[in-house]
Amino acid sequence: MVDPSGRTAVDLRVSLTDRCNLRCGYCMPPEGLEWMPSGDLLTDDEVVRLVRLAVERLGVREVRYTGGEPLLRRGLERVVAATTALRTADGAPVEASLTTNALGLERRAAGLAAAGLRRVNVSLDTLRPERFAQITRRDRHADVLAGAAAAAAAGIGPVKVNAVLLPGVNDDEAPELLAWCLASGYELRVIEQMPLDAQGAWTREGLVTADDVLASLRAAYDLEADDPAARGGSPAQTWWVRARGADPSTAPLGRVGVIASVTRQFCGACDRTRLTADGQVRSCLFSTSETDLRGLLRAGADDDEVADVWRAAMWGKAPAHGIGEAEPLTTSGFARASRPMSAIGG
Ligand code: SAM
Ligand code: SF4
Repeated sequence: MVDPSGRTAVDLRVSLTDRCNLRCGYCMPPEGLEWMPSGDLLTDDEVVRLVRLAVERLGVREVRYTGGEPLLRRGLERVVAATTALRTADGAPVEASLTTNALGLERRAAGLAAAGLRRVNVSLDTLRPERFAQITRRDRHADVLAGAAAAAAAGIGPVKVNAVLLPGVNDDEAPELLAWCLASGYELRVIEQMPLDAQGAWTREGLVTADDVLASLRAAYDLEADDPAARGGSPAQTWWVRARGADPSTAPLGRVGVIASVTRQFCGACDRTRLTADGQVRSCLFSTSETDLRGLLRAGADDDEVADVWRAAMWGKAPAHGIGEAEPLTTSGFARASRPMSAIGG
């Protein structure tokens, strides 16, 4: 699936539900959202059919399941097992991964590992339970830690930890989170907050930038930029971490990544295509339009027809989202996405 800017989409993000059991302030309002009617959601079989045709006919090589909260989907293990059983046109296995808040992962990690899951991103913005309750509006910090540990114990990893920093709330915690990740064998990914909250409350003033994060990490560690060639289409820019003043020829303690969607946009290398829980293709997280595949499936379209429509949808991918382009950064230079992150799949 190529687009007019010459990019090829090989990484599929599938949202399995728009529902969630947390209420992170940068994602949803306290009362939650008007959830999609259950009849609008793709069934497990429909998800598997679309993933299969994306792999076999459209060149997809990696599939990440997300949401909302993907662990709320009962059939997740079955969907993952069907995904990891697929082979690309050249016979390569498909990499399946999960982005999750980890609530309930403690119980399900072994089953997901058995289904072939090899990678997981666990979202955790703070090591302090009271801050966690403030950010997510739920008192479940211990469950997240247990979920991450269970994933690692089940051999899913290295676990990546996604953290969003918020000014005046947890923006002092990057070094602490990094120390904890290094000690636990996890890899920290700090994500710049994007204007994808359902409430439309994002402001430039509320953004902790990649530069802010790197400055706070450099006060505690030496960072050495990773080889840019190793990044590929990954949204994260990564650094090797050493103790302050350590000999640069010694082995690093680990790695840290920053996903700077706003201040260092990476649209030029984007290799993603997205499928919402109700079966809409989005060429970009920030798209203002989408293409319905669920209707096609339910009207009896065959795989060739569905593949053609998906390919055409990706041909309409915009060159870039344009958020970070105006200075000072505002949301005025770009059109807000037509759905919040929880309904698209982050
Ligand atoms: N519920 C799962 C979770 O939190 O991992 C999966 C869905 S969530 C939308 C995926 C990722 O998007 C999480 O790491 C979350 O922190 C991040 N996220 C949510 N809203 C965001 C925003 N406005 N800006 C940046 N990242 C955001
Ligand atoms: Fe739920 Fe993830 Fe959104 Fe937090 S970021 S409210 S865990 S979907």
